[in-house]
Amino acid sequence: MAKDLLSTGEKDVATHLHSYTNLAALPQTPPLVIVSGDGIHVVDDQGKRYVEGMSGLWCASLGFSNKRLAAAGAKALDTLPYYHTFNQRTNVAVADLAEKLLALAPVPMARVFFANSGSEANDSAVKMVWYYHNAIGMPAKKKIIARRNAYHGVTVAAASLGGLDGNHRDFDLPIATAPEARFLHVDCPHHYRYAQDGETEQDFSTRLAQQIEERILAEGPETVAAFIAEPVMGAGGVLVPPAGYFEKVQAVLRKYDVLMIADEVICGFGRTGNMFGSTTLGIQPDILCCAKALSSGYVPISAVMVNDKVHSAIAANSGKLGSFGHGYTYSGHPVACAVALETLQVYEDEKLIDHVQALAPAFQAGLRSFAERRWVGNWRGVGLIGAIELMADKAARTPFAADRKAGYRFAALALEEGLIVRAMGDSIGLCPPLIITAAELADLFARLTRAMDRFD
Ligand code: PLP
Repeated sequence: MAKDLLSTGEKDVATHLHSYTNLAALPQTPPLVIVSGDGIHVVDDQGKRYVEGMSGLWCASLGFSNKRLAAAGAKALDTLPYYHTFNQRTNVAVADLAEKLLALAPVPMARVFFANSGSEANDSAVKMVWYYHNAIGMPAKKKIIARRNAYHGVTVAAASLGGLDGNHRDFDLPIATAPEARFLHVDCPHHYRYAQDGETEQDFSTRLAQQIEERILAEGPETVAAFIAEPVMGAGGVLVPPAGYFEKVQAVLRKYDVLMIADEVICGFGRTGNMFGSTTLGIQPDILCCAKALSSGYVPISAVMVNDKVHSAIAANSGKLGSFGHGYTYSGHPVACAVALETLQVYEDEKLIDHVQALAPAFQAGLRSFAERRWVGNWRGVGLIGAIELMADKAARTPFAADRKAGYRFAALALEEGLIVRAMGDSIGLCPPLIITAAELADLFARLTRAMDRFD
């Protein structure tokens, strides 16, 4: 390389405003430059191969070199590279994809709206909830209950729903902080951390459902519109809800006519061992948001499914107003829809959900194998998603001090071992591509073991 040319890393640091990065420290910790991928592996610009234990950001379910998706995208680009879906326009791929998603939905759904990201899907769901309640003549019913440690994205509404401090701090999200806040937060269902001494999972679930009921009553049921939940909380630490949780919560929601929104952005499309996490966790959503594995992450696309109750009210209101005034330039993008359709076809052709169910016991056993390690306080998972929670003193359940950055230190060791994991506080997340084989899973855990051996 000529001396006067910047490397990709140098150019990047000088020009690119990174997502979720300590921007001030970036010049001292240059980015990892990923140049290619094959199967469950990615390769950096130095030629080092990594097992991508996180499918990128929980999305590349088919790994990093699926030729069918590439071909579907190329064909779509060649046929109709762009068209929109405003004002009664449509395209073949979006109609096919909507039909397919309705056929796969975990509960009967009536229509599918398309966007580009999980954040936009959740944002759209929020707007639909508000529009719906205006449509049915309940304009005061607008508050949405979310959970602490939830992650729903970063647009203003999605970040307001979120319950992780880092998404709120210094962003002044107006609707999360105003006295008449429309976004409320209740406790998250992390039994290991937050259950009281001796409290069973069922008792913990009962207490959390009661807390939601008390909150609804305190706010006034006539003001509470919806509850949003990830079936398994992802970025909050892969929190699998305790037994009975959604059954008890949904009984409360039904009592007060509160809509259920399932944020399936991570759980959708096989991750938990069923097509949707709602099936695994017993959720009956009125609105379901999905993204990520909808296209295996290959192109940006997300979807919001709404049931007939919501759709018919929205449709009637748009009739009164003359239009449903919502939609994105790229809603139903023909290339994204074609790639998503092919992704769903690959899941079917390769029987990937059966594969997840077959491999899940080995994955869970791999997580459990760390249970006796000095620093491992808790492990948890379902299907092919899981986490290990590190503790400074597991007997006393004392977390590491924040400045010890236990999760980041572990993730850095794993990286040295050629394994990409995700640090979420002191929890280490794993969410490998669904195509991972038994031998590759064993290799993943061997790398994790080597990282664990070096961690102190
Ligand atoms: N919802 C959940 C559960 C997520 O995990 C994410 C992203 O990780 C989002 C929403 C936001 O999706 P996006 O980053 O595509 O906006």
